[in-house]
Amino acid sequence: MRISKLFMSTQREIPSDAEIVSHQLMLRAGLMKKAASGIYSFMPIGYRAYRKVENIIREEMDRSGAQELIMPAVLPAEVYMSSGRWDKFGPEMFRLQDRGGRQFCLGPTHEEPFTEAVRDSIKSYRQLPVTLYQIQHKYRDEKRPRFGLMRAREFVMKDAYSFDADEAGLDASYDTMYHAYGRIFDRCKLDYILVHADSGAMGGSGSQEFMVKSDVGEDAIAYCSACGYAANEEKAPCKVTERGEPETLLDVTKVHTPGFKTIEQLMQFLGLDSTAFAKTMLYNIDGKNVAVMVRGDRDVNETKLKNLLDATEISLSAFEDVEAITGASVGFAGPIGLKQSIMLIADLEVAAMTNFVVGANETDYHLKNVNMLRDFKPTQIADIRNAVPGDPCPVCSGPLALCRGIEVGHIFKLGTKYSEALGAKYLDQTGKEQTMVMGSYGIGVGRTLAAIIEQHHDDNGIIWPMAVAPYQVIVVPTNSTDETINELATSIHDQLQEKGVEVLLDDRDERPGVKFKDADLIGIPIRITVGRKAQDGVVEFKLRASSDVREMTVEGAVSEAIQMVSEAL
Ligand code: ATP
Ligand code: MG
Repeated sequence: MRISKLFMSTQREIPSDAEIVSHQLMLRAGLMKKAASGIYSFMPIGYRAYRKVENIIREEMDRSGAQELIMPAVLPAEVYMSSGRWDKFGPEMFRLQDRGGRQFCLGPTHEEPFTEAVRDSIKSYRQLPVTLYQIQHKYRDEKRPRFGLMRAREFVMKDAYSFDADEAGLDASYDTMYHAYGRIFDRCKLDYILVHADSGAMGGSGSQEFMVKSDVGEDAIAYCSACGYAANEEKAPCKVTERGEPETLLDVTKVHTPGFKTIEQLMQFLGLDSTAFAKTMLYNIDGKNVAVMVRGDRDVNETKLKNLLDATEISLSAFEDVEAITGASVGFAGPIGLKQSIMLIADLEVAAMTNFVVGANETDYHLKNVNMLRDFKPTQIADIRNAVPGDPCPVCSGPLALCRGIEVGHIFKLGTKYSEALGAKYLDQTGKEQTMVMGSYGIGVGRTLAAIIEQHHDDNGIIWPMAVAPYQVIVVPTNSTDETINELATSIHDQLQEKGVEVLLDDRDERPGVKFKDADLIGIPIRITVGRKAQDGVVEFKLRASSDVREMTVEGAVSEAIQMVSEAL
């Protein structure tokens, strides 16, 4: 493909509305174009890379025995009514009406139509198991569409659904998908971790998320390199870490701490480190004020707290409430002598501390040598803090590390939630009617593409892994008016194309610097530069991922490129 003919436009400036690198690079490299918030078109180069990812997914799905089909994106309301999700999706669902006033939506996920399709055609255990999938647009009116393809409102998902006769069957289907997902993300050269997700909300019995490690990920993950344990931070249980507590309980003493409200100020004033403090924070949880205690160096995990109390809304209490409840200005709250009787939740670690410092519920005073149970009794003692690096792994006690992750895939044991609601039954060996057991398995294709860029780029642009590169080789003649150079570059391009390599020829009348910049920005893995030594049959061979430039004969460069491409695919 000649770049002069390619429908492509690159830009040097960083688009102002793109916050993360993958989004910036996709716009700068001209891979896509914004139509509306969270809605994008792919331009030819972007679409090629996108299709590579899609094809990897398709190949691995087919290899696993799943069968591809395609469902409509426009679906009648009734499809989602039988499961109760027509209402449950709320404003996230794009809804529309036909001219007759009939209600439709743009499918946000397709459990229901797949279940209907299987219900209507499978009658006997002999037809099970079956796994079906599609690669198709999904529509979700996300509250905060952002980061380009990462959180879009129109996006392509590969969604698969398995139907089995029983739980053991589901386990096997799930396992097959698990392995297929591993192969997909390995082929996309993604560094990911597998996180056990709580599937409580959807009523399933098991669920794992494939998380690509990235600082821009929306999920905080605690993981253990020793045993492979990983969990969302809010689900990672924290064990009590030993502080070497003294055994003798000392008497409570009140200390004057004028204006010292923060742990840092108090540490300095009292000459103690942060682990000698227990901080008391007041939260408004579903409209009620609750006092919450964690060790001085810890942070409250609001999700754990919410889950503990089965609550939906959580925020810090209003200043007026804090003052009314503690009888002191903000910064001096403590567990002893609160002016109103409210719930007090203490973290597990606080229960293990001795002789610690707390606020005195009196402006400018703290209490020293406080001990739980002797001096105050919390309503509940529970794990409510954030995990920190080095916390013991709940499985093997090795040190946990923290990272952020982008969820690219999700595999889910649904059980009978949808088959029950929609009546997907079959007759077993004895002729008895049974409910099918389901799994659902999603991969965001665009999000995967964006995640690849997040993990494979540098200051100059994208560094495509060979398997997803829109083109594998770019041939750059340094001077387009020089006939020898041009002829040689064209011949290299033609030879590679002949061998099935996807190759670009930068035949534009531009300076070499401009051509190199564009080649780097669009991230083509192999660059062959044809310059002054063309008359000797010598060219430069450079990989996008390395700064080494090697001089080679034309034959050498062509055969090395062919070999590298075939090895990587
Ligand atoms: P999230 O928590 O990120 O909203 P989700 O739990 O809603 O994701 P699923 O319903 O499990 O996602 O969808 C399966 C996959 O579809 C996700 O793993 C992700 O890769 C992709 N996906 C979901 N929502 C979006 C979106 N708004 N834009 C792009 N991809 C998405
Ligand atoms: Mg979502």
